[in-house]
Amino acid sequence: MSGQPDIVIIGSGIGGATVAAGLAASGAEILILETGGHIEDRPENRDQRAIFQRGHFRPDETWYEADGTGFNPGNYYNVGGNSKFYGAVLTRYRGEDFAEMQHLDGVSPAWPIAYEELEPWYGLAEELFQVRGALGEDPTEPVHSTGYSHGPVADEPAIAAVRAKLRAKGVHPFSLPLGVDIERWLAKGKTPWDAHPNSFDGKMDAETAALAAALEHDNVKLQTGSRVTRLETGPDGRDIAAVHYVQDGENRVLRPKLVILSAGAVQSAVLLLRSANDANPNGLANSSDQVGRNFMNHNSTAVIAMSPWFCNDSVYQKTFGFNDFYLSDGEGGPPLGNVQLLGRISGTILKGAMPAVPEWLLNRVTAHSIDFYAMSEDLPSPESRVMVDGERIVLKWVRSNWQAHERLVAKLKQVLRSAGFPLVVSRAFDKRTPSHQCGTVRMGTDPKDAPLDVFCRAFDHPNLFVVDASFLPTSAAVNPALTIAAQALRVADHIAQKDLAA
Ligand SMILES: Cc1cc2nc3c(=O)[nH]c(=O)nc-3n(C[C@H](O)[C@H](O)[C@H](O)COP(=O)(O)OP(=O)(O)OC[C@H]3O[C@@H](n4cnc5c(N)ncnc54)[C@H](O)[C@@H]3O)c2cc1C
Repeated sequence: MSGQPDIVIIGSGIGGATVAAGLAASGAEILILETGGHIEDRPENRDQRAIFQRGHFRPDETWYEADGTGFNPGNYYNVGGNSKFYGAVLTRYRGEDFAEMQHLDGVSPAWPIAYEELEPWYGLAEELFQVRGALGEDPTEPVHSTGYSHGPVADEPAIAAVRAKLRAKGVHPFSLPLGVDIERWLAKGKTPWDAHPNSFDGKMDAETAALAAALEHDNVKLQTGSRVTRLETGPDGRDIAAVHYVQDGENRVLRPKLVILSAGAVQSAVLLLRSANDANPNGLANSSDQVGRNFMNHNSTAVIAMSPWFCNDSVYQKTFGFNDFYLSDGEGGPPLGNVQLLGRISGTILKGAMPAVPEWLLNRVTAHSIDFYAMSEDLPSPESRVMVDGERIVLKWVRSNWQAHERLVAKLKQVLRSAGFPLVVSRAFDKRTPSHQCGTVRMGTDPKDAPLDVFCRAFDHPNLFVVDASFLPTSAAVNPALTIAAQALRVADHIAQKDLAA
């Protein structure tokens, strides 16, 4: 790469890596600045005591609540971002999620684009991430113009038995669309993949799928250990003139033609707010005053169902979900959310959350249990926000729609009891798990109400795009990564046609 790159992409997570994959063939000189390094192939990657009890991979970082209380967020900084640890459920939003939807606690607003607009890009994202799945099993499934090119990851026998029991109770389990080559994953170690880091072991994440495709092109380069600290505008306050970053303790500057910010929903908002200048006193891209606002993070709960008669000898478990309470509560009431299996929870994993209980006892219990993840939509609210206070990141997450989530958990417990699990317990995830963070730099059609247009271009800065979970106008009750990837491919195509063709 000679001189200045044409495009600087900040962050190599799902958004950054996928937009790079989409732009690679354009021939533009692209430099990806990533603050972290690579997840190496090490024994800790499959050591559940290291991951869940010792927090080996947890970043040494503190965010603060509005009242000043600090907490350690599970937000990961490495090549591939949070997707290195993800459950690889790569699912589309439902068609209905793009329209206005009335929830128990308020309204989920309509997207500024229709599902049909994103549909072809979903198909391309599924190809890029080699999604394994089956169509036609989920009554809420949106239209797919292309099928999955790989069949679903198989249920293990104990899980197949539970799927059959649920079906007999009138539930509609469907195979989760997954970005996992299960043979390769298990060849490295007999563990689940959810919350376990991936080196190049069979999980299709931002690094192994999208970034790998981008880096096949000589015009795309990745630079690790490079933390972007500020974006600078030109004299008119509009064009982004420079990207400031720190590498090896040195302050450095780049002056690309285009900047694509993809540092994750919290860090992208933080960077824009910290880049405030005289022409943009509220931060960049923020004439709408929406940067950092509308922070969403699904309402989610782990639900563990136990029966002395059930023996769970599964390794990975995470193969089906159901949406019977997604569009309504099943009785004509409001939407409640999605249910999907969690990665198999062992006693060793559970000990991380219950340190006082002996691991052998937890292992006895988990031998007879199965684990689900209940997820409900969090609605956008301007009061739910990311702020900066000097060097501090302040996260004031105002949860919404909690009552609907409680109803979902109650329904799930009822279903599981009826399917032969007399004891069902649950524990909600909180702000220390900001896994599904989104919404903080949303897209829209009105510059007064949204920082980004429908191609994720900042209304205030024509050469700035934000392409990560920040752009999502709603959280739906669906895992976010595939939607981020689909939009990143759509944005890349738009940039190639509008900005690079000229
Ligand atoms: C345990 C876990 C399980 C999950 N399971 C699923 C799942 O099954 N399905 C699903 O769809 N989603 C899942 N998610 C969520 C999913 O991983 C995220 O939605 C997705 O990775 C977000 O992508 P992103 O591009 O918005 O941001 P990130 O993944 O956060 O990427 C941002 C990147 O920017 C880098 N960065 C940050 N700040 C800077 C800076 N200042 N300078 C340079 N680089 C910077 C970071 O290091 C990172 O690489 C899960 C997440 C976790 C943690």
